[in-house]
Amino acid sequence: MKILISADMEGATGVTWPADVLPGTPQWERCRALFTSDVNAAVLGFLDGGADEVLINEAHWTMRNLLLEELDERAQMLTGRHKSLSMVEGVQHGDVDGIAFVGYHTGAGTEGVLAHTYLANSITGVWLNGARASEGLLNAQVVAEYGVPVVLVTGDDLTCRDADGYAAGARKVAVKDHVSRYAAVCRTPARTAADIRAAAKEATALAVRYEPVAGGPFTVQLEFDAEHLAAAATVVPGVVRAGERRVAYTSGTMYEGIRTFKAVTTIVSAAVEEQYG
Ligand SMILES: [Zn+2]
Repeated sequence: MKILISADMEGATGVTWPADVLPGTPQWERCRALFTSDVNAAVLGFLDGGADEVLINEAHWTMRNLLLEELDERAQMLTGRHKSLSMVEGVQHGDVDGIAFVGYHTGAGTEGVLAHTYLANSITGVWLNGARASEGLLNAQVVAEYGVPVVLVTGDDLTCRDADGYAAGARKVAVKDHVSRYAAVCRTPARTAADIRAAAKEATALAVRYEPVAGGPFTVQLEFDAEHLAAAATVVPGVVRAGERRVAYTSGTMYEGIRTFKAVTTIVSAAVEEQYG
């Protein structure tokens, strides 16, 4: 049995502030160890539960955050950026039985510690077929096309509540309780590692591949914090204006949908000016 772990950083133990997740800062250096502790706890739990292969896909920022040397030697890690399926890369080869979203967070424009969707600031909301969408929800739709169940979600308490909407059966671990976008009541890494390991062990039983779900068409709408970003996004084929600061596109599959999303976020981040946005 093979488990894929999609590892994001904003929802990791002890992380509450932009510098905590910004590569190169002293705070990030410290928080990498906390993030690695969460991920390794999930690895150990899945191995306890009977998985014989665990692949970790780094999913935060430059996708170079985890400390490989601290991970259990039975795990493997996919590190670095430019991957077909981005945060859930590795799910498409037909050999993954279950996926875990570790260190996830809530979506842009909603409550939650370091809430955002892909871009830290410029995106103020994302909707999938009319419903507010977090990264967790978008990625859950992608993996459903490969028949892979989401078996474990970790993050703050609101991330766990969000996951109840897209992965009702998955095990959830809240490593911290939301107070504001930059504040949380945090549990210690010793405590959260024990909680994550126990939940991952139980979650292994949920890792049973099912018939791939063709749920399309998918209409994605994005709202930005500045009008010119909507204009910039329309250079991506199929992306049209849907309001002064909004664009929309429709894809037949979430495979296409998430790739178009990546194209939009890449173009938009290049169009952001330092002071004016
Ligand atoms: Zn994220």
